[in-house]
Amino acid sequence: MKPTVVLSACLDGFAYRYNGATVNDEIVNKLKSLFNLIHVCPEFEIGLGVPRKTIRLHKIGDDIRAIQDETGVDLTSQLEKFSDGFLSGLGNVHGFILKAKSPSCGVGSAKVYLKNNIYGKTYGIFARYVSENLPYVPLIDEGRLRNRELMWGFLVKVFTLFRFENAKSNINGLIDFHTRHKYIFMSISQKHLKELGKIIAEHKPNKFDEIVKKYEMTFKDLMRHGFRKTNLANSIIHIFGHISENLSKMERAYFLKLVDKYRGGKLDFVNLLEIVKVYAMRFEDKYLLDQYLLEPFPEI
Ligand code: SF4
Repeated sequence: MKPTVVLSACLDGFAYRYNGATVNDEIVNKLKSLFNLIHVCPEFEIGLGVPRKTIRLHKIGDDIRAIQDETGVDLTSQLEKFSDGFLSGLGNVHGFILKAKSPSCGVGSAKVYLKNNIYGKTYGIFARYVSENLPYVPLIDEGRLRNRELMWGFLVKVFTLFRFENAKSNINGLIDFHTRHKYIFMSISQKHLKELGKIIAEHKPNKFDEIVKKYEMTFKDLMRHGFRKTNLANSIIHIFGHISENLSKMERAYFLKLVDKYRGGKLDFVNLLEIVKVYAMRFEDKYLLDQYLLEPFPEI
């Protein structure tokens, strides 16, 4: 079983772009095998042919409209109607990878024009619908996937959401899910981690439906937030605390120096994870080895 991810069709060989081109993206190609894919092309789905006149986003008053400049046709309502229908019929989905800069699919990267001048950047019409209606589902475009940290965060959240869907059918599954995601949650929001822990700790027999409903609400609220450097550094120090007493003074000092390097942007978080993973193996620390933060998704 794999997570389900919605992918802009033009990123996967469908010649649906305005000029009939496709996009061959190395990272998307690499990630595809991790997911069950659902392809989407909002502009093709509303009946625009290929090739077609380009669409641009225009700021008109407080509104952002998607207009085909050459024909003057305002396609906003059609794109919104399609987005609404598509999301309503979607079922369980664990992530979206959309095409950067597109007036339909861009994730904060679509240009907005004000009287022919670039006014700023925003979400394409479809991407905006996704972010507003499924705020807990990870959403990224292929441009941001090139940033290793953003890609890592996206994948962690996709697989966390997927594991939750599979864990929420009974209390033991939910407790196991919670226990093994402790450091992932800590890396996003300490406040949510505490609330989730409280819900689990207070569970009573015969009240599972109530518990899972409460847990799901708080979990989905947590998923709306991103990973923050300070929280990630905090989690890694907590993890390190489990094993540090087995290490020499020199090893401890060196690891903390590496955490400082990460804080200063000179080291990737995954480098720190690899180090604590080696220590967890060396000391056969089952609790840590079970933590999904140490292996949040399959090797790419
Ligand atoms: S960017 Fe979106 S709307 Fe444009 S061709 Fe690709 S999938 Fe279709």
